[in-house]
Amino acid sequence: MKKMGQFPHRRWNALRQSWVLVSPHRTQRPWLGEVGQKAAPSEVAYDPQCYLCPGNQRAGGATNPAYEGIFSFVNDYSALLPDSPLVMEPPVSPLLVAEPARGLCKVLCFHPNHSLTLARMSRAEIRRVVDAWTQEYTELAALDWIEYVQIFENRGAMMGASNPHPHCQIWATGFMPDEPAAETVAQRKHLASTGHCLLCDYLAAEEKEQATEGRIIFENEHFAALVPWWATWPFEAMVVSRRHLGSLPELNVEERDALADALKRLTTRFDNLFQTSFPYTMGFHQSPTDSETHPEWHFHAHFYPPLLRSATVRKFMVGFEMLGMPQRDITPETAAERLRACPEFRQDEAR
Ligand SMILES: [Zn+2]
Ligand SMILES: [Zn+2]
Ligand SMILES: [Zn+2]
Repeated sequence: MKKMGQFPHRRWNALRQSWVLVSPHRTQRPWLGEVGQKAAPSEVAYDPQCYLCPGNQRAGGATNPAYEGIFSFVNDYSALLPDSPLVMEPPVSPLLVAEPARGLCKVLCFHPNHSLTLARMSRAEIRRVVDAWTQEYTELAALDWIEYVQIFENRGAMMGASNPHPHCQIWATGFMPDEPAAETVAQRKHLASTGHCLLCDYLAAEEKEQATEGRIIFENEHFAALVPWWATWPFEAMVVSRRHLGSLPELNVEERDALADALKRLTTRFDNLFQTSFPYTMGFHQSPTDSETHPEWHFHAHFYPPLLRSATVRKFMVGFEMLGMPQRDITPETAAERLRACPEFRQDEAR
């Protein structure tokens, strides 16, 4: 591991039967200015200190263009590199297994305005982001060595987001990460044993249950937002397409509009729940981009917000949850009911 230990790689956890991604080169990442920086939405549309604002210089030395719409670039401090060596020294023990890990990490700014969030953006502005996500997925999927494209947003200091500028990250990997890999196995198994798609069946079950035990927060013509039956985080949510499709490029024009609408409405309800800019990690799960076909895959987004009772009281996954299994107090049904009671407009927004 001497030389290889300098490059991104993933190590096999033989006890847990899962992988951990190691990015040793990333320790050079500048940390100055990130510690203690507030990641609440900014009140200023332009921050001269922000490395994502138009025209500003980034820590890596590059200068952002004076962009007016959406801007994406390769992360200056990528956790994965496209040119990592593809061979590793043979393991000295079958319990000390590592694999090379290649990938591409990008950053995508949703908007030049530093003070916005998805909830504060208009449907038309979010729709342009949906188009950009689709384009990024398509371009990265076309690279023959990319097996998965993970689009995700960390929002708020509580989720470790150091910069309030509206942006997301895209990590395209030469391997399947564990979370979508587990969902691939489950969806394949369901399709093989029933002939149906798992999430199509799940959404039908939720729609049927809605009259008695509602976990659906809202639906529009093409998407449903719900607190899943198996939710771990207090106000965890999923946005699921109502039509069976595997990835962003399969959305038609109306479905792209409907996705923007669903994201606007869900993030606004979240902000209204505790009258705060709601922190979360959100991201899309979609068809792997390996050489296989994936009829089992059903496109969806996960939202994992940490807040429990107020803008400051968060849930921690510690103790029994770290050593045993996740546990929750508030039921998913109650969480969905609370989110259904939240308005879909912002107090400071003209209606
Ligand atoms: Zn900014
Ligand atoms: Zn489906
Ligand atoms: Zn998923």
